[in-house]
Amino acid sequence: CGIIGILGKHEVAPLLVESLKRLEYRGYDSAGIATVNHGHLERRRAVGKLANLSDLLVHEPLPGKSGIGHTRWATHGAATVTNAHPHMSGPVAVVHNGIIENYRALREELAAAGLTPETQTDTETVALLTRMFMDRGEDARTATVSTLKKLEGAFALLWIFEGEDDLMIAARKGSPLAIGHGEGEMFVGSDAIALAPFTDRITYLDEGDYAFVTRAGVEIFDQAGRRANRAEARIDLGA
Ligand code: GLU
Repeated sequence: CGIIGILGKHEVAPLLVESLKRLEYRGYDSAGIATVNHGHLERRRAVGKLANLSDLLVHEPLPGKSGIGHTRWATHGAATVTNAHPHMSGPVAVVHNGIIENYRALREELAAAGLTPETQTDTETVALLTRMFMDRGEDARTATVSTLKKLEGAFALLWIFEGEDDLMIAARKGSPLAIGHGEGEMFVGSDAIALAPFTDRITYLDEGDYAFVTRAGVEIFDQAGRRANRAEARIDLGA
């Protein structure tokens, strides 16, 4: 339902939660964040209000300057901690807005590759597919593009990876995503309102686009895999 991602200069866990609060108005049943900390990928998730996630983070802090966050409005699978995003498999963590329509067929394909889901969600198939391609030797960028070719439905997706402190990959099909430009920092949000505390320089992904985001900037590609130039705009949302 709500997505935020930050490649920052400071500890991101509190910033991710603050951003998710700005997306609360959209409604949600659970929330979670994942960070990469000196290469190590880890997550925290909680059912119910964001205060529950904040409380969990007090007891089990999540260090790291790179991370993603999500507020979930369950469509496939009950509102449980297990079904909350980010979904992880091997070196991959992903958050998702929308629905992966062909997730049943994908589950069968994944089962044939020896990858069994641990959740009832459609989203987990995305994490498992990307992991499957990485297991076969593809790097994070290539595996993500391979994954996107298999997905049907409406989605905004945002990935981070074990061992990659300076990479987020974003994809948009039928659900909006905005890239926020900082000074040596980069942001991704499902709504520019989530980015308002950090930057007023925004680039919206077009339908079918995907983007490789690092602290140095963003490379955007269209559905056919061609480099795309998307305009950067200044927005005034009154941070
Ligand atoms: N279909 C996904 C799920 O049920 C994402 C829902 C959402 O947009 O929050 O977990």
